Amino acid sequence: MSRELRPHQIRIIERLRQSLTTGHRRPMVQAPTGAGKTVVAAAIVKGALAKGNRVLFVVPALSLIDQTVRSFWAEGITDVGVIQANHPKTDATRPVQVASIQTLQRRAIPRFDIVVIDEAHRWFEMLGLWMRASDWTSVPFVGLSATPWTKGLGKFYDDLIQVTTTAELIEAGYLSPFRVYAPSHPDLSGVRTVAGDYHEGDLGEAMNKPALVADVVETWLKHGERRPTFAFAVDRAHAKNIQAQFEAADVRCGYIDAYTKPPEREALFRQFTAGDLQVIASVGCLTTGVDLDVRCIILARPTKSEMLFVQIIGRGLRTAPGKADCLVLDHSDTHLRLGFVTDIRHDALDDGRQRQKQERKPRAEALPKECPSCKYLKPAKVPKCPSCGFKPEKQTEIECEDGDLVEMTPARARAGTVEKESLFGQLKHYAKRRGYKDGWAANKFRELTGVWPDRYVNAPLVEPSPFILSWIKSRQIAWVKGRGGSHAHAAR
Ligand SMILES: [Zn+2]
Repeated sequence: MSRELRPHQIRIIERLRQSLTTGHRRPMVQAPTGAGKTVVAAAIVKGALAKGNRVLFVVPALSLIDQTVRSFWAEGITDVGVIQANHPKTDATRPVQVASIQTLQRRAIPRFDIVVIDEAHRWFEMLGLWMRASDWTSVPFVGLSATPWTKGLGKFYDDLIQVTTTAELIEAGYLSPFRVYAPSHPDLSGVRTVAGDYHEGDLGEAMNKPALVADVVETWLKHGERRPTFAFAVDRAHAKNIQAQFEAADVRCGYIDAYTKPPEREALFRQFTAGDLQVIASVGCLTTGVDLDVRCIILARPTKSEMLFVQIIGRGLRTAPGKADCLVLDHSDTHLRLGFVTDIRHDALDDGRQRQKQERKPRAEALPKECPSCKYLKPAKVPKCPSCGFKPEKQTEIECEDGDLVEMTPARARAGTVEKESLFGQLKHYAKRRGYKDGWAANKFRELTGVWPDRYVNAPLVEPSPFILSWIKSRQIAWVKGRGGSHAHAAR
């Protein structure tokens, strides 16, 4: 059973076809949260199958494999195999293969006619090596993301396909409208910024204060209309505290984080859908791909990351019978800093140049303003409050923080750290096996990542992946050629 494509989905497929026929090999498709990314993915896969092409569909985590296979089945794509050790669906003869980055970086990747990278804003060093490997240059890699704003993506992807916006999808009735209130304003003055977002430890301390947590619960009781609610917290302690406060107020509240096991998570979602849980307190953006009927978002996790912000609010924008809008209770001042999610747009991928960074700064006059009477966040330049009718004598000045909007969430930054550590471990392993000098691995690391591996000096040795081996080999060939050598000491 496959769904009829919506007009914007048809436009995406048309634009993608154009992009590939005009010679692009690394197009990035931006489909806003709720634009039906799985339907678009299925349409891309079906198009490739119709031409007799073999498709590799890549997901950024092992935990997304089964859900992806299920969504393909739901779209009528059943000839699907999985590349993953001991997976029951392993069958290399199937024309569509689903694999995780984690599995692929450990093995040699067989030949495919097209590669689709899902959640392509999540960047891995391995992807860059793979996309630039000489025997893959002619194979199209199609990136899919709601928020392809990660720094440097424009160095690897060569086209950005955008056919619609969140605002248009709300207008057309495909997404739910939303209303935002800013009930409390946390003091974040002592919170440091790391890798473009708030330092998580500092943030946990600033947000996990009894008064702020109590306000989360009190505001919800007063204004939340007992809607099915997702609460986004800073860290586990914060989320557990929110959960405890809700429970103390006789509101049934669940808890999930990255370590919640899939069966437990599915049980929580079932309870939530059945109405047995009214609130789920969560850490991070952990529900990608899960279509829950969320009608209220509690944003208790301040962020400077547009990507994280858009993905969090996106959890509440799914339409549902009887749902007029999504209520957003923003305890984080994020809207006052970044604007409404419908205002966040980028017309190009970031290729690391300063110019784009400048364009991204939201202008203070374009940011929402808070109604002093009811805390409703009004769009810029709307003097009378659409919620309570209050009209202030004079517009209140909202101070805009001069935040630099680097799109890296702490979770992503950590993932990058783990990956870089493993990368250095692989280079050290190689150097040791070959009896190279100490500085060799550090030099190669710098060549690959642009930074010295100072933070990873104690990285454990890791067996080098096929990508690292072929990269080392290509560097050695280039080096020998550069010296006019007659034969390369190619590594294997
Ligand atoms: Zn008002």
